[in-house]
Amino acid sequence: MTHGPARKLAAKLKSFSLLPLLLAAAALAARAVYSVPAPIVDRMLEADLRKQADTWRRSVLLHLSSSKDAFIVGDLNDHDEEYLSLVPETSDVYRLKLFAADGTIFWSTRRENIGERNTKPYFQSVVAQGLIYYKHEERPATEVDGLEAAVNADGSIPYREVAEVYSPVMHDGIFIGAIEFYSDITDVRNTFITRVRISLALISLVTVAAVTIVSVVVYRTNRRSLRQIEERSAKDQEIMANQLQLAREVKLLGELNEWLQSCRSLDELFGMVSEFMGHLLPDSEGSIYVFSNSRDVLDGCSSWNGGSHKDHIQPGECWGLRRGRTYEFGASEVEFTCEHAKPHDGRPYFCFPILAHGETVGLMHLRARPGRAGDFSGCKPLAQMCAEQISMAIANVRMRDQLHDQSVRDPLTGLFNRRHMTETLRKFVGASQNSGKPLSVVSIDVDHFKKFNDNHGHDAGDMVLRAVGAAMAQACDGDEVACRPGGEEFALLLPGVCPEDAVTKAELLRQAIEDVAVRYGEKALPRISISLGVAHYPAHGTMPQDLLRASDEALYEAKAKGRNQVCVADGTSPLPRDPAALPDPGRVQAKKKGAA
Ligand code: GH3
Ligand code: MG
Ligand code: MG
Repeated sequence: MTHGPARKLAAKLKSFSLLPLLLAAAALAARAVYSVPAPIVDRMLEADLRKQADTWRRSVLLHLSSSKDAFIVGDLNDHDEEYLSLVPETSDVYRLKLFAADGTIFWSTRRENIGERNTKPYFQSVVAQGLIYYKHEERPATEVDGLEAAVNADGSIPYREVAEVYSPVMHDGIFIGAIEFYSDITDVRNTFITRVRISLALISLVTVAAVTIVSVVVYRTNRRSLRQIEERSAKDQEIMANQLQLAREVKLLGELNEWLQSCRSLDELFGMVSEFMGHLLPDSEGSIYVFSNSRDVLDGCSSWNGGSHKDHIQPGECWGLRRGRTYEFGASEVEFTCEHAKPHDGRPYFCFPILAHGETVGLMHLRARPGRAGDFSGCKPLAQMCAEQISMAIANVRMRDQLHDQSVRDPLTGLFNRRHMTETLRKFVGASQNSGKPLSVVSIDVDHFKKFNDNHGHDAGDMVLRAVGAAMAQACDGDEVACRPGGEEFALLLPGVCPEDAVTKAELLRQAIEDVAVRYGEKALPRISISLGVAHYPAHGTMPQDLLRASDEALYEAKAKGRNQVCVADGTSPLPRDPAALPDPGRVQAKKKGAA
């Protein structure tokens, strides 16, 4: 949708002002009021005087003894002359001339005119044709009979509006002469002009006022509708921008979801979250905390957009976690800052508890970036969706980890099971083949365990097996792996450990187990011992099963020799058990206590 032309028109109209237009209309009206009345009044007066002249002519001819004689031969008797002399007294005419057919004046109220001849073309072309000839012009007052002495206040001679009407006299259709009537129309004309001017001024005033009102109404209506168009256009643009933003966010959320689903570890997951959140919520900085395994603290895992996280926080430090729902700081009149958010500079923030399968697994903390607190609360729905996706992804990774753990670990001791032991040994053998580094395997079996079970019960036996598992786990360093392939049998896979060190390690473990004290209820269970068989790669085998077989055989040998001892494959004697030669007996002692 395009509102470009509408906006341009609106801009033009905005800059357009009614005032000059109205001033122009007023000026036009004033000009009309000034200039229009005179011609109109002149035309009206002419029509009036033409009619009047006709009447005057008829009246003159009626009063003459013989109009025919008078005009054809110029014969006027006394009575005629007396009557003619009185015409200016009894009418608006101030001068009267009688013409013969050739234009010669044979009688005039001004005696000196008698005998003069009118040779003007109009006399023959108009008057002699039987038509009235009308002439109107300004004349000095001196030429107007009765006003000869008129003088203005400044001494100048005033001018008068004079109308001259030639009225033809016909006899049997033949032009026999004419009468010229002079009348001073100054006063009538001025009065009429003034009246017409007043009328015109009133009409103009009303018209200008009406035009002004209509213009203002139209102008306002237009402005209102243009403003509405502008507002609608701005609203449309806002909706469009929101939709684009929404589409982008939905796309990013979809991508985030897809990536998170393919995460194999929490570290990988948090890396992706940081990357995506930076794009999804560019106006906020954030961090993620996840409950540690012990569930008494949350570990800071990741942050983005300049945000930072603490190494650990207590669950009680967050109002979101304490109240079990999103906590929004900066939206209420009375509010409290989370301890973990301190030091706090007053910027609004959110704490979203991260839930997985109904259990709180962590916290997403979002804070407005400096200078961008404006519409921070507007990002809440999107942030909530992100928190939900992150929750699901964490749950997925955890479940995958759990399932994997379940498939590779022994549930009683937590050590790796036989399947994982075989796979891991295969990997270690391959690595040693490539690197040439040593590899040792230790097979372990609890001595006379059947009897132990028989004497103290299976549950007590389980407790002992758990304690053995813990001691073994503690005995492992780096890549070393402790396994429980089954029953009361255990194994250690020791990559990078040479034969001598492996035997030493086995011996240390043997001693540690010997000292393991387990309580079963009120009862202290008797100590147990283990027998151990050690084999090396490549001396005792280059294949995993050969190595395991060799270590098992060494274990049988240890059993055969009286148990509670270490034997090396191929009948090799164990290294002398000199405690001084052992690398760090104290370390094993410490671990042993922890295992117990
Ligand atoms: P040896 O010294 O020759 O190894 O004698 P042993 O009695 O330990 O050997 P044997 O193979 O005869 O018996 C193994 C016993 O281990 C049998 C079984 O009761 C016990 N056992 C195996 N798995 C478990 C377990 O998960 N829990 C408990 N409590 N006992 C187990
Ligand atoms: Mg056994
Ligand atoms: Mg046994």
